Amino acid sequence: MIVILKHDHNPGQLESLISWLQEKGITIHTSIGEANTVLGLVGDTSKLDIDLIAALDIVEDVKRVQEPYKNANRKFHPEDTVVKVGNTQIGGGNLTIMAGPCSVESEEQVVAIAKAVKASGATMLRGGAFKPRTSPYAFQGLGEKGLEYLKAARAETGLPIVTELMDPGHLPLFKDVDVIQIGARNMQNFDLLKAVGHQDKPVMIKRGMSATYEEWLMSAEYVMAGGNENVILCERGIRTFESYTRNTLDLAAIPVLHKLTHLPIIVDPSHATGKYWLVEPLAMGAVATGADGLQIEVHNDPAHALCDGPQSLKPEAFDPLAKKLLALHAHLNGAEG
Ligand code: PEP
Ligand code: MN
Repeated sequence: MIVILKHDHNPGQLESLISWLQEKGITIHTSIGEANTVLGLVGDTSKLDIDLIAALDIVEDVKRVQEPYKNANRKFHPEDTVVKVGNTQIGGGNLTIMAGPCSVESEEQVVAIAKAVKASGATMLRGGAFKPRTSPYAFQGLGEKGLEYLKAARAETGLPIVTELMDPGHLPLFKDVDVIQIGARNMQNFDLLKAVGHQDKPVMIKRGMSATYEEWLMSAEYVMAGGNENVILCERGIRTFESYTRNTLDLAAIPVLHKLTHLPIIVDPSHATGKYWLVEPLAMGAVATGADGLQIEVHNDPAHALCDGPQSLKPEAFDPLAKKLLALHAHLNGAEG
């Protein structure tokens, strides 16, 4: 249920409304926007008398929220959420470009790629240290050492780092990471979602390969229900009957999610297509449809990459692409190109 307050609501009356609701076991999320202040009510609201609340002096309107996601719902929080990461902000009209290798392979590799992508306009460094691989015989990532190399690359470039967490037991190792990535395969790993919900580092949830928008938003809800509101969503393609591309990029997810939720949305055209030459057109499409940012795999030697070489761009191909993406975003948002 949401309660929209009148502009000139009396603070004393608001306080008594809040304590009355809390006595009934309801948790309240207050969202102060430019247009309105909205109280989002979470808990068993079925016994609340909607007409009684609507009749209060300070109340403009009351609505039941049918969707099972509450904290993630745009109705609860009409303004866009902006997630602060280091000196950058994700959402709120910015275009965040996360770039880097699929996997961290060595310190030299990740530092060199970080320097290159930063020079091209990337604002965050991606790189996997713990890798979810389909085959147990494939490279599993450098683990803790990989995290150290990512931090070395951050120290050299100032780029915040985003990297995947697969095991809640590894959380202590991630205390210096800037954004924790939950991979597509773990989108419904509820223990993992609960664990990242109980800490305050931003969390980026990649869409599960067969997840509906609602299931994906319920994963965000798990994190937010734990108290962590710094959630970012990442569309990375879904499994369809088409086998030419690795996945099928669902660009409709961007406008739909902007309608359903206030959380920022990043698009990963690399995992969506599996082919380096499809990254540019789909990245441009993502910006055109309103994505808040991109996550793009970049490797200095894709032919010898330990993971996802065929979908990785060389730094020299990433450079003009990053510039085009920033120019398109600036153009669409009315800023100077
Ligand atoms: C990744 O970003 O490295 C990754 C494994 O992506 P996804 O979880 O989307 O497959
Ligand atoms: Mn990858």
